[in-house]
Amino acid sequence: MNDDSPSPAPRSFAEALQGQFQQAERRRREGADFILALDQGTTSSRAIVFDRAGRIAGRGQEEVTPLFPSPGHVEQDPNQLWLTTLASARKAIDATGASAREIAAIGLTNQRETTILWDRATGVPVAPAVVWQSRITAPECARLKAEGHEPLVREKTGLVLDPYFSATKISWILDQSPALRQRAERGELCFGTVDSFLLWRLTSGRVHATDVTNASRTLLWNLREGTWDDELLSLFRVPRALLPEVKPSSGLFGVTDRKWFGEELPITGIAGDQQAATFGQQCFAPGLVKNTYGTGCFAVMNTGDSIVDSKFGLLGTAAWRIGDETTFALEGAIFVAGAVIQWLRDGLGIISQASESETLASRVKDNGGVYLVPAFVGLGAPYWDPDARGAIYGLTRGATREHLCRAALESIVLQTRDVVEAMSCDSGLAIPALRVDGGATANDLLMQLQADVLGIPVHRPQILETTALGAAYLAGLASGFWPDVASLANQWHLDRVFEPRMSVDQRDSWYAEWKKAVARTRS
Ligand code: ADP
Repeated sequence: MNDDSPSPAPRSFAEALQGQFQQAERRRREGADFILALDQGTTSSRAIVFDRAGRIAGRGQEEVTPLFPSPGHVEQDPNQLWLTTLASARKAIDATGASAREIAAIGLTNQRETTILWDRATGVPVAPAVVWQSRITAPECARLKAEGHEPLVREKTGLVLDPYFSATKISWILDQSPALRQRAERGELCFGTVDSFLLWRLTSGRVHATDVTNASRTLLWNLREGTWDDELLSLFRVPRALLPEVKPSSGLFGVTDRKWFGEELPITGIAGDQQAATFGQQCFAPGLVKNTYGTGCFAVMNTGDSIVDSKFGLLGTAAWRIGDETTFALEGAIFVAGAVIQWLRDGLGIISQASESETLASRVKDNGGVYLVPAFVGLGAPYWDPDARGAIYGLTRGATREHLCRAALESIVLQTRDVVEAMSCDSGLAIPALRVDGGATANDLLMQLQADVLGIPVHRPQILETTALGAAYLAGLASGFWPDVASLANQWHLDRVFEPRMSVDQRDSWYAEWKKAVARTRS
């Protein structure tokens, strides 16, 4: 698993890196007991130190602030992303009671698609980061779609032509000033997703690279060929000179500048957050699926070495690359999941905290015929209806807030069934069980409902910090901290299994009612 694949950088540079890595390796053998995972997310930068058994030894966290300069546009300050990452890393090491010498390697995971451009000479960002949530490039995407480019984009990248991804964000920044575009063409600027920018800062500008999972979210990466694609670069008007080198997710990326932690620490794993969580959940075999229940839901299925063309608008993406071997995945996003519970609390005021949704919903034996379709921002896969809006159906005089809470929780598991069923149809793979993580998995009723509506067991692990854990695994495998994937198997501990308890008839009629409610909600 030790990936030292030669980089296209000058040979002497690669050798220098190799030499540094060997030094770091020697130090590890002298007794480094930990892996440091850095998880740079949309709302916070977190760092977790894991020990050899995959247990959490220490953690640090710093909030980050989004900026909303105009409707639909979201930015962040790249310097803040960096400084909070550094501060959370130092906190986590301190909380562990360890010294940096005891860190064998660093793994990095990040909010995906968020786009940063910086000066290659000084490392100074030339503009704020354009965050994945920003819809600022919607007109540009609409224009490209109207010109008929979507099938080509879909075929090459596995993605859809949407402002979510990086390509149109890069062009949008360059279009702010003609001078910027000229500088980009002359090779004076670097583009990176957040991982790439942090790697650059951690190595004090010595490494401009990313991993294949992050590259596969840009709309510029040819998923089939595993290369940056000239046709896409020209379609999106992105100069090639901006691009980072793309490396396997598990392998040596670089070594931190001694000034950050007092030691040179090797960075040996990088993956985007959802892919890292899939790795942290040990979904190593085709057909294994994880679902993360946060504000939205992100379901990811391992599809092995095949890139599956989705008939239902799921995304094809790289799950990770280890050595020369790329594993692919299908991904389905549900925009509103835990957010529907926030709406019960903040919008309707019928609960005072998220966990109360479980207490109230447990007081009724079923939904009483009430269905809530939380299409607050349209519907994602498999419907892709941006103009749909939320609705509540089946209200009678007997409907109570208990029924409403139940319908809200059910909307999360029913949307998940929509996506999981699409994954199964697209891939032709049977799904043995669903592995879950994220804040809303604390809700036992939600988990039971999920097992019931899917008709398969739901597995909730003890460690729910699967994103950071996945980054740690990728780094620890490359640095020899863990010998191989098989050695991780005994680290994944179940907290609880939720077995389906509903009859097939009951399940099918429940799901059929949901489909009717969704159909009525379509724009
Ligand atoms: P994110 O990473 O997207 O911020 P988290 O993983 O922290 O999300 O989960 C928070 C979300 O989970 C919120 O939307 C919240 O409403 C929901 N949530 C938290 N606890 C519960 C619960 N006990 N029951 C249902 N939903 C919950």
